[in-house]
Amino acid sequence: MRRMTHLMMGAAAGSLVAASASLPVATGAVWLGVAGGGYPDWLDLRSELKGSLRLRHRGASHGLAVAIVVISVVYLALTSLAAGAVGVPNWMQLSQHTALTWTMAFGLGLVTHLLADACTHAGIRPLLPFSRWRMWVLPRMLRGRSDGWLNTIALGVSFAVLGYVMIFAVARETNVL
Ligand SMILES: [Zn+2]
Repeated sequence: MRRMTHLMMGAAAGSLVAASASLPVATGAVWLGVAGGGYPDWLDLRSELKGSLRLRHRGASHGLAVAIVVISVVYLALTSLAAGAVGVPNWMQLSQHTALTWTMAFGLGLVTHLLADACTHAGIRPLLPFSRWRMWVLPRMLRGRSDGWLNTIALGVSFAVLGYVMIFAVARETNVL
């Protein structure tokens, strides 16, 4: 999938996680969903990491091992804010629930990235760096190119979901519509 599609899918995933949350929590969830949707390809482009971790496109960056590590780091960072870490101003102190919601938004954004890439001809290798086993989520005849019709559908659907959730979240908060 193209970068914009991954970011939009991440945003849509984040918005779904926080569909019934308050506006600030929902905004954070969309933002973290975008981060989760974007990070695997971002990691691929970090040339200084390429040599050490063998990160070629859709390498270990698209595997479950790296995903678990990155999600854990996000969770620890957010819960330390929630636990009232020293030096954190009052307005930045999250509730545990918000920390969990945002971690879920990030994780789900990341999952949409891996699933979307697993719909394409190349698939993903989720067990890297331990095994080179390749995985797809669609039968061969339905797989597509990263920039083909699958990309267009994914972009359109996630754009619609994001708009729908955002409009109703704001309407609920403001009692207008
Ligand atoms: Zn990718």
